[in-house]
Amino acid sequence: MNIILMGLPGAGKGTQADKISKQHQIPHISTGDMFRLAIKEGTDLGKKAKEFMDQGELVPDEVTIGIVKERLAKDDCENGFLLDGFPRTIAQAEALQTLLAGLQKSIDYVLHVDVPEENLVERLTGRRICQTCGATYHVIYNPPKQEGICDNDGSELIQREDDQAETVKTRLEVNIKQMQPLLDFYHEKGYLVKVDGDQGIDQVFQDIKSILKK
Ligand SMILES: [Zn+2]
Repeated sequence: MNIILMGLPGAGKGTQADKISKQHQIPHISTGDMFRLAIKEGTDLGKKAKEFMDQGELVPDEVTIGIVKERLAKDDCENGFLLDGFPRTIAQAEALQTLLAGLQKSIDYVLHVDVPEENLVERLTGRRICQTCGATYHVIYNPPKQEGICDNDGSELIQREDDQAETVKTRLEVNIKQMQPLLDFYHEKGYLVKVDGDQGIDQVFQDIKSILKK
Protein backbone atom coordinates (compact mmCIF):
# COMPACT_ATOMS: atom_id res chain seq x y z
CA MET A 1 0.00 0.00 0.00
CA ASN A 2 1.63 3.24 -1.16
CA ILE A 3 0.14 6.25 0.55
CA ILE A 4 0.72 10.00 0.69
CA LEU A 5 -0.73 11.79 3.69
CA MET A 6 -1.67 15.44 3.46
CA GLY A 7 -3.06 17.89 5.96
CA LEU A 8 -2.52 21.27 7.55
CA PRO A 9 -0.62 21.85 10.82
CA GLY A 10 -2.80 20.77 13.74
CA ALA A 11 -4.92 18.38 11.64
CA GLY A 12 -3.47 15.36 13.47
CA LYS A 13 -1.61 14.01 10.45
CA GLY A 14 1.36 12.73 12.46
CA THR A 15 -0.84 10.74 14.85
CA GLN A 16 -2.72 9.10 11.98
CA ALA A 17 0.52 8.43 10.13
CA ASP A 18 1.83 6.40 13.09
CA LYS A 19 -1.40 4.41 13.30
CA ILE A 20 -1.49 3.63 9.56
CA SER A 21 2.18 2.70 9.60
CA LYS A 22 1.61 0.18 12.43
CA GLN A 23 -1.58 -1.24 10.97
CA HIS A 24 -0.15 -1.82 7.49
CA GLN A 25 3.45 -2.53 8.52
CA ILE A 26 4.77 0.13 6.20
CA PRO A 27 7.38 2.76 7.07
CA HIS A 28 6.22 6.27 7.97
CA ILE A 29 8.55 8.43 5.92
CA SER A 30 8.70 12.09 6.85
CA THR A 31 10.97 14.49 4.98
CA GLY A 32 12.93 15.33 8.13
CA ASP A 33 13.58 11.66 8.98
CA MET A 34 14.61 10.98 5.41
CA PHE A 35 17.20 13.78 5.45
CA ARG A 36 18.53 12.71 8.86
CA LEU A 37 18.95 9.11 7.63
CA ALA A 38 20.75 10.12 4.42
CA ILE A 39 23.08 12.38 6.41
CA LYS A 40 23.72 9.68 9.02
CA GLU A 41 24.47 7.09 6.34
CA GLY A 42 26.76 9.61 4.63
CA THR A 43 25.39 9.05 1.12
CA ASP A 44 26.52 11.54 -1.55
CA LEU A 45 23.06 13.09 -1.55
CA GLY A 46 23.03 13.20 2.24
CA LYS A 47 26.33 15.11 2.17
CA LYS A 48 24.95 17.54 -0.40
CA ALA A 49 21.78 18.08 1.62
CA LYS A 50 23.84 18.74 4.75
CA GLU A 51 25.88 21.44 2.98
CA PHE A 52 22.72 23.35 2.16
CA MET A 53 21.21 22.82 5.59
CA ASP A 54 24.39 23.92 7.38
CA GLN A 55 24.26 27.16 5.41
CA GLY A 56 20.63 27.60 6.40
CA GLU A 57 19.51 27.20 2.79
CA LEU A 58 16.64 25.20 1.34
CA VAL A 59 17.70 21.86 -0.06
CA PRO A 60 17.15 22.03 -3.84
CA ASP A 61 14.54 19.73 -5.41
CA GLU A 62 17.01 17.57 -7.31
CA VAL A 63 18.76 16.63 -4.04
CA THR A 64 15.49 16.09 -2.15
CA ILE A 65 14.07 13.94 -4.93
CA GLY A 66 17.27 11.89 -5.06
CA ILE A 67 16.97 11.26 -1.33
CA VAL A 68 13.32 10.24 -1.70
CA LYS A 69 14.32 7.85 -4.46
CA GLU A 70 17.02 6.22 -2.33
CA ARG A 71 14.58 5.90 0.58
CA LEU A 72 11.75 4.36 -1.46
CA ALA A 73 14.13 1.85 -3.03
CA LYS A 74 14.97 0.39 0.40
CA ASP A 75 13.78 -3.11 1.34
CA ASP A 76 11.35 -1.94 4.02
CA CYS A 77 9.29 -0.20 1.31
CA GLU A 78 8.63 -3.46 -0.51
CA ASN A 79 5.10 -3.72 0.92
CA GLY A 80 4.47 -0.03 0.71
CA PHE A 81 5.24 3.30 2.29
CA LEU A 82 3.55 6.27 3.85
CA LEU A 83 4.92 9.63 2.74
CA ASP A 84 4.35 12.55 5.09
CA GLY A 85 5.50 16.06 4.19
CA PHE A 86 6.54 15.19 0.66
CA PRO A 87 5.77 16.29 -2.03
CA ARG A 88 5.37 19.98 -1.21
CA THR A 89 5.25 21.37 -4.74
CA ILE A 90 3.85 20.33 -8.11
CA ALA A 91 7.39 19.97 -9.45
CA GLN A 92 8.13 17.49 -6.65
CA ALA A 93 4.83 15.67 -7.26
CA GLU A 94 5.66 15.26 -10.94
CA ALA A 95 9.18 14.07 -10.13
CA LEU A 96 7.68 11.57 -7.69
CA GLN A 97 5.43 10.15 -10.43
CA THR A 98 8.49 9.62 -12.63
CA LEU A 99 10.66 8.08 -9.95
CA LEU A 100 7.90 5.73 -8.80
CA ALA A 101 7.39 4.57 -12.39
CA GLY A 102 11.13 3.89 -12.53
CA LEU A 103 10.83 1.74 -9.38
CA GLN A 104 7.76 -0.04 -10.85
CA LYS A 105 5.60 1.44 -8.12
CA SER A 106 2.61 3.76 -8.06
CA ILE A 107 0.53 5.67 -5.55
CA ASP A 108 -2.58 3.93 -4.19
CA TYR A 109 -4.05 6.73 -2.11
CA VAL A 110 -3.48 10.35 -1.27
CA LEU A 111 -5.30 10.85 2.04
CA HIS A 112 -6.23 14.41 2.91
CA VAL A 113 -6.96 14.80 6.62
CA ASP A 114 -9.32 17.74 6.36
CA VAL A 115 -10.13 20.07 9.24
CA PRO A 116 -11.79 23.48 8.68
CA GLU A 117 -9.34 26.34 9.08
CA GLU A 118 -11.22 28.00 11.98
CA ASN A 119 -11.08 24.74 13.96
CA LEU A 120 -7.36 24.49 13.34
CA VAL A 121 -6.94 28.00 14.71
CA GLU A 122 -8.81 26.88 17.83
CA ARG A 123 -6.70 23.73 18.16
CA LEU A 124 -3.38 25.50 17.64
CA THR A 125 -4.02 28.63 19.71
CA GLY A 126 -5.34 26.57 22.64
CA ARG A 127 -1.96 24.99 23.36
CA ARG A 128 -0.30 25.86 26.65
CA ILE A 129 3.07 24.74 27.89
CA CYS A 130 4.76 24.50 31.28
CA GLN A 131 8.13 26.24 31.27
CA THR A 132 9.32 24.16 34.20
CA CYS A 133 8.60 20.57 33.11
CA GLY A 134 7.63 20.99 29.45
CA ALA A 135 4.18 19.42 29.91
CA THR A 136 1.70 20.48 27.22
CA TYR A 137 -1.98 21.21 27.72
CA HIS A 138 -4.87 22.43 25.65
CA VAL A 139 -7.43 24.84 27.06
CA ILE A 140 -10.31 22.81 25.54
CA TYR A 141 -9.06 19.31 24.73
CA ASN A 142 -6.61 18.69 27.57
CA PRO A 143 -7.04 21.37 30.25
CA PRO A 144 -5.01 21.41 33.48
CA LYS A 145 -6.97 20.84 36.72
CA GLN A 146 -6.59 24.51 37.58
CA GLU A 147 -6.69 27.05 34.76
CA GLY A 148 -3.26 28.32 33.74
CA ILE A 149 -1.38 26.14 36.27
CA CYS A 150 0.69 23.00 35.62
CA ASP A 151 -0.69 19.85 37.27
CA ASN A 152 2.82 18.50 37.86
CA ASP A 153 4.55 21.38 39.57
CA GLY A 154 2.15 24.31 39.98
CA SER A 155 4.09 26.51 37.53
CA GLU A 156 2.32 29.06 35.38
CA LEU A 157 1.47 27.86 31.86
CA ILE A 158 2.44 29.96 28.88
CA GLN A 159 1.42 30.20 25.26
CA ARG A 160 4.35 29.94 22.87
CA GLU A 161 4.73 32.77 20.38
CA ASP A 162 4.26 30.23 17.57
CA ASP A 163 0.82 29.39 18.93
CA GLN A 164 -0.52 32.94 19.07
CA ALA A 165 -3.48 33.70 16.83
CA GLU A 166 -1.84 35.96 14.24
CA THR A 167 1.17 33.65 13.83
CA VAL A 168 -1.07 30.60 13.57
CA LYS A 169 -3.29 32.24 10.94
CA THR A 170 -0.30 33.29 8.85
CA ARG A 171 1.21 29.81 9.08
CA LEU A 172 -2.07 28.22 8.00
CA GLU A 173 -2.47 30.61 5.06
CA VAL A 174 1.03 29.77 3.83
CA ASN A 175 0.32 26.05 4.14
CA ILE A 176 -3.07 26.29 2.42
CA LYS A 177 -1.48 28.13 -0.53
CA GLN A 178 1.17 25.46 -0.78
CA MET A 179 -1.14 22.46 -0.37
CA GLN A 180 -4.09 23.41 -2.58
CA PRO A 181 -2.34 22.89 -5.96
CA LEU A 182 -1.21 19.45 -4.76
CA LEU A 183 -4.74 18.49 -3.75
CA ASP A 184 -5.92 19.56 -7.21
CA PHE A 185 -3.09 17.62 -8.87
CA TYR A 186 -3.91 14.38 -7.05
CA HIS A 187 -7.64 14.88 -7.44
CA GLU A 188 -7.19 15.05 -11.21
CA LYS A 189 -5.14 11.87 -11.11
CA GLY A 190 -7.91 10.15 -9.13
CA TYR A 191 -5.80 9.37 -6.03
CA LEU A 192 -7.25 11.89 -3.61
CA VAL A 193 -9.57 10.81 -0.79
CA LYS A 194 -10.76 13.32 1.77
CA VAL A 195 -10.95 12.18 5.40
CA ASP A 196 -12.99 14.16 7.93
CA GLY A 197 -10.30 15.11 10.44
CA ASP A 198 -12.70 17.06 12.61
CA GLN A 199 -13.53 14.06 14.81
CA GLY A 200 -11.84 12.13 17.61
CA ILE A 201 -8.49 10.49 16.79
CA ASP A 202 -9.99 6.97 16.86
CA GLN A 203 -12.91 7.86 14.60
CA VAL A 204 -10.58 9.47 12.06
CA PHE A 205 -8.52 6.28 12.04
CA GLN A 206 -11.65 4.12 11.62
CA ASP A 207 -12.56 6.17 8.56
CA ILE A 208 -9.05 5.79 7.16
CA LYS A 209 -9.17 2.04 7.75
CA SER A 210 -12.38 1.68 5.80
CA ILE A 211 -10.95 3.72 2.91
CA LEU A 212 -7.82 1.57 2.78
CA LYS A 213 -9.86 -1.66 2.82
CA LYS A 214 -11.50 -0.80 -0.51
ZN1 LIG B 1 5.09 21.65 34.82
